[in-house]
Amino acid sequence: MDYRKELTTSRINRRELFIRSFSFTRRNNFFVILFFIFIFSFFSCARDESSRIELALGTVCSVTLYENGKDIVFDKIFSRINEIENLMSVNINSSDISRINGNAGLTPVQVHEDTYKVIKRALYFAEISNGAFDPAVGPLVALWGISGDNPSVPSHEKIIETLPLVNWRNVIMDNQEQSVFLTRTGMALDLGAIAKGFAADETAKIIKNEGIARAKIDLGGNIIMLGEKKDKSPWRVGIQNPGGSRGSIIGILRIPEKTVVTSGVYERYFEENGAHYHHLFSPSLGYPVQNGLLSVTIITGVSTDADALSTAVFVLGYEKGISLLESFPEAQAVFVFEDNSVSVTGGIDFMLTDKLFYIK
Ligand code: ADP
Ligand code: MG
Repeated sequence: MDYRKELTTSRINRRELFIRSFSFTRRNNFFVILFFIFIFSFFSCARDESSRIELALGTVCSVTLYENGKDIVFDKIFSRINEIENLMSVNINSSDISRINGNAGLTPVQVHEDTYKVIKRALYFAEISNGAFDPAVGPLVALWGISGDNPSVPSHEKIIETLPLVNWRNVIMDNQEQSVFLTRTGMALDLGAIAKGFAADETAKIIKNEGIARAKIDLGGNIIMLGEKKDKSPWRVGIQNPGGSRGSIIGILRIPEKTVVTSGVYERYFEENGAHYHHLFSPSLGYPVQNGLLSVTIITGVSTDADALSTAVFVLGYEKGISLLESFPEAQAVFVFEDNSVSVTGGIDFMLTDKLFYIK
C-alpha cells in the first residue's frame, strides 16, 4: 500500500470538507459579513499594538506601543537608547564615562549634558543614602569582575586596598565647564544602577511627544507603564520571584501610570564554593550586600530616581531603606526577603500570587 497516496488523499478530503463548510448561501450571508468584520477588527487591533526588542545598555530592551506603533517611532526610541549607551557605558572606550575614568587623577573631562545630568543625580542619591549608593563603585565592580564573563571572589587584601578608591565625595563636578573629575588615579564611575532608569525616562518623553497615549517600556526590568489602558483598569506588573526562573512572579502590582524598578540578587551573580555572590555592593565593605533582602522594588513617577532608589534602598537594608523612602512620599516599595516574607509600603495595590511567600 502506498502510504503517501493515502495521506494526500485524506488531506484533500479534509480540504474539501473545509471548503464545503464555508460555502456561501444567501441565508448565512449575514453571518459571513459578521465573520469578516470580526477578522478585520482582530487584525487591526493586532496592528495597533506593536513591540520592538533590542539588546542595548547591556540588557534586553523592549518597548510596546499600544497605538500608532510606527517604525519611525521605534527607530527614534532605539537610537536615543543607543546614544545614552554610547555616552554612559563603561564598556565603550569612547563613552563619556570611559573618558572620565581614563583621566582619573589627571584632568577634568568635559561631557555631554545628559551624562552630566545623570552623574549629578547619582551624586545626589549618594549623598542622601550616605554613600550606600555610590556611582564611584567602578573599581569594586571591576575587581569582582561581576560584569564580565569570569567573575571571582578577590582576596580580602585586594578588597581593602580598593575601598579608598570608592568614594563619591572625590567626584568633582564643574557646572561652568560641564566637566567631571575623579581626584584619585584608579577611581572609576559606574552608572549601571541609574542609567537604565534615565534611558527609560527619555523613552517615555519620546513616546509622549509622539502623542501616543499607551505604552510599556521595559529596559532590563526598568519598567514604565505610560498612560492608561483603554478600559481604564490599572496596569498589572508582576514582581519577579528572586529564586525562580525569569518571568516567574510572586505577585502582581496594579498601578496607574508609574515606573516600577527592581534591584535584586538574581539579576547578575556567580557561585563560588557553594556561595552566591551578586552585583549589589556595599561601598563601605567591598562585598556583595548581605542583609536578608533578595529584592527591592520601587514604584514611583520618575524612572531615574526609582533606579537609583532601588539600589540605594537594597544596599541600606530594610530599616534604613524605609527611612530614606520617607523623603520620597510618592514612592512605594515591595521588599522580598530570604525567608520568603514580603513587606510592602502603605497605599500599594499588591496581590501575592505565590503561596510559598507571605506578607509580613
Ligand atoms: P540592575 O542593573 O540589575 O537593574 P541595579 O540598578 O541595582 O540593578 O544596578 C546594579 C549595578 O549598579 C551593578 O551591576 C553595578 O554596576 C552597580 N552597583 C553595584 N553596587 C552599587 C552601589 N552600591 N551603588 C551604585 N551602583 C552600584
Ligand atoms: Mg538601580
